[in-house]
Amino acid sequence: MKYTEYQKEIFATAQKLVKAGLIRISSGNVSMRTDDGNVAITPSSIPYDEMEYSQIVILDMEGNAVEGKLKPSVEKMLHINTYKAREDAKAVIHTHSVFAITLSLFGSVIPPLSIEMINLGAPIQTIPYSLPGSLKFADKVANYFHDHPEKKAALLENHGAIVVGSGVKDAFQNAYNFETGANIYYNSLLLGKEFRILSQAEIDELHGTYIPSTKK
Ligand SMILES: [Zn+2]
Repeated sequence: MKYTEYQKEIFATAQKLVKAGLIRISSGNVSMRTDDGNVAITPSSIPYDEMEYSQIVILDMEGNAVEGKLKPSVEKMLHINTYKAREDAKAVIHTHSVFAITLSLFGSVIPPLSIEMINLGAPIQTIPYSLPGSLKFADKVANYFHDHPEKKAALLENHGAIVVGSGVKDAFQNAYNFETGANIYYNSLLLGKEFRILSQAEIDELHGTYIPSTKK
């Protein structure tokens, strides 16, 4: 089948996200672009431990089903509009991860604390709440990524997190690093002491050495 490799890759990534504790039961969703300009995405409401790779749905860039019998993720337009906003995004992962949700409740901005967070484009903002699955929500997130071309992540108020990647493996790494960064920031706040944030000069230096992909 034409899309089998994409379906297998999305399925394997979803399983990795479950193992890493970033998505649970049927929350969160994963997608990637296909070489022919479509999008492979996880289906709606199927628990990840019951899912099969053949259930991954293929959509065109308007959200119409190209292949697959199941209903695609309710967040299909969140993924599609993010791809439309960002040419460089080849994969999108949306999680309901615990530390991201916790920080989002305060409208947090995660400061540049580590190499991993710099790579994601920190500081990382919280996008104000809109109804999950709505077009308004999808557009708000797409606008954020369009307006911040250097950022690969965002907190979603009272909802979770979203990351983009240059491929599905990169997006997984970004999702993992983002939740870890959220955890670290949460810990720092909890300790109640002043903590050190990387300076702009140190961030520029990192972009020139450890993070060549984002070098301007
Ligand atoms: Zn969600």
